[in-house]
Amino acid sequence: MTYTAPLADMRFALREVAGLSGVAVLPGYEHATDDTIDAVLEEAGKLAGNGLAPLNREGDKVGAKLENGVVRTAPGFAAIYKEFVEGGWNSLPFDPEFGGQGMPWLLATAVQEMWQAANMGFGLVLLLNQGAIDAIHHHGSDEQKATYLPKMISGEWTGTMNLTEPQAGSDLGQLKSRAVKNGDHYLVSGQKIFITYGEHDMAENIVHLVLARTPDAPAGVRGISLFIVPKYLPGADGTPGKRNDLRCVSLEHKLGIHASPTCVMSFGDDGGAVGYLVGEEGRGLSYMFTMMNNARLSVGIQGLAIAERAYQQAAAFARTRVQSKDDGSAAPASVSIVHHADVRRMLMTMRAQIEAMRALGYYTAAGIDGALKQPDKAAGRKIQDRVDLLIPIVKAWFTDLGNEIASTGVQIHGGMGFIEETGAAQHLRDARILPIYEGTNGIQARDLVGRKVAKDGGETMLALVAEMRATAEEMKAAPGDDIEAIRTGLQAAADALEDATKWVVQSVKAELVNALAGSVPFLRLAGTALGGWLLARSALVAQTWLGQRDGDPAFLEAKLVTARFYAEVILPPALAQLGPLKSAGRTVFALSEEQF
Ligand SMILES: Cc1cc2nc3c(=O)[nH]c(=O)nc-3n(C[C@H](O)[C@H](O)[C@H](O)COP(=O)(O)OP(=O)(O)OC[C@H]3O[C@@H](n4cnc5c(N)ncnc54)[C@H](O)[C@@H]3O)c2cc1C
Repeated sequence: MTYTAPLADMRFALREVAGLSGVAVLPGYEHATDDTIDAVLEEAGKLAGNGLAPLNREGDKVGAKLENGVVRTAPGFAAIYKEFVEGGWNSLPFDPEFGGQGMPWLLATAVQEMWQAANMGFGLVLLLNQGAIDAIHHHGSDEQKATYLPKMISGEWTGTMNLTEPQAGSDLGQLKSRAVKNGDHYLVSGQKIFITYGEHDMAENIVHLVLARTPDAPAGVRGISLFIVPKYLPGADGTPGKRNDLRCVSLEHKLGIHASPTCVMSFGDDGGAVGYLVGEEGRGLSYMFTMMNNARLSVGIQGLAIAERAYQQAAAFARTRVQSKDDGSAAPASVSIVHHADVRRMLMTMRAQIEAMRALGYYTAAGIDGALKQPDKAAGRKIQDRVDLLIPIVKAWFTDLGNEIASTGVQIHGGMGFIEETGAAQHLRDARILPIYEGTNGIQARDLVGRKVAKDGGETMLALVAEMRATAEEMKAAPGDDIEAIRTGLQAAADALEDATKWVVQSVKAELVNALAGSVPFLRLAGTALGGWLLARSALVAQTWLGQRDGDPAFLEAKLVTARFYAEVILPPALAQLGPLKSAGRTVFALSEEQF
């Protein structure tokens, strides 16, 4: 179970698809030179492959354990976390004012892919901390920022996200945790469930971001406020002081990500945990959404990462497992299974979808940088609209594909895939949480059709369709039948996405439940079409470079072939989602509740 960061494809996606050079010249990113970026990618690749990946299997087998109120992480985790902190890896994209390195989110996203691919159980602590930093950075007071951000950015302290309660999952308006004002702070009480890294032994303090209700708050989402509730209250000198009134009462037993402690947290058993209000009362959920946007991109990247890991493992197995004769040869000897057409079809399916996801994931991350740093505010706002539209697609499409690809990885292993020692099964088990947490994929699709597509009458999505058509136009001038096949696929994708978008806009107005019944197929169609667009752009670059005899020809030819496979094999069935998407609403309410 090894992992090698796919640096060649990462660099290609960063530079040729996401436009790294355009990002690196934005004000504040001048230090993100080509050399620095290359060095970061190289070093991160080494740490992921040599440090994190070897701990993945043991982390799965041993898992995190709760002993006398203390969560012991899996073997080797605390030591490698220390290495992370000392190496400054936590601080990559954050504000230099608080000790961050101020690198583009685009670069941090590629690095994030490596951590998550190498060891998702470990990578989660980084992901949650990143989201918590983001929330405090955007909404905390100056004093809160000064107290918490330097420690969290360095990674000496880690952050959590305490939203879920037994009766409040997708519907956070139901949450009951309470916060009562007590002088300069609040006393927080209540139970939270499923809290990732809610307790652990890797950092000296844990900063919980907790959603709770003040006594006179209105019911529903408008009554929710956000609090910083640290495990140890920071003393005057900033070091962890008195233990706060909160604890992890149990750990969940899970299908996967065993190394990541999923905690039931109890706040205020002895009178109330000290909590500090972030921003204003009643605005907690909107603040959390800042953090969730960031976290949703990261969870999408987890889907890409687990897919890459499963692909690498399946490809290595296919090259070495010998079984059956070669269909195309009279030779009597058996060959490795990578010779067989169906195994190749599976590997190509994995590879093409991974490259499409990487292209779309990095493109979205580049948008985050553009929206943050673009000097022209109106242009920045437009980029942000595009990012907001893409985030639910990245979260849900990538994580569904992560599952499908991990499952294909098991299939390529045959019976050995079902046996735990091989490791292919762990990827599938680990992948299964991704469509569920950080807002289920059903909730992402709801967000996409309602808040994103319908809100602006489809304008942002149709602007993307126009860009797809522009790429198709550009391709007309490029030579080769690969390009022509890819262009034909892209044209069909643009037509289908335009048609589907107009249908969504109209259905949300006319019959909301129809749009909602078709929302998941719509999201799938949108993701597959946009991924196809960015693969077409990649193919165009590859074709141009090949013509100029520039770059590695084997890599560029593989890019073309992979994009063609995507256009001819992956796109057509995904575009056929348009039918089910329009008709689902007619039948889903035809049965009574009792009939299910
Ligand atoms: C391993 C793990 C780690 C987690 N980490 C954290 C964490 O760190 N912090 C935290 O706060 N939470 C965390 N969670 C909780 C996670 O975010 C929730 O499980 C998730 O949001 C779904 O909520 P739920 O489980 O209550 O499901 P429910 O909300 O009960 O949903 C059940 C089903 O109904 C569907 N559904 C619900 N409402 C709608 C609707 N309006 N329209 C269409 N479909 C709908 C859902 O899509 C889903 O299929 C974690 C969960 C797990 C399992």
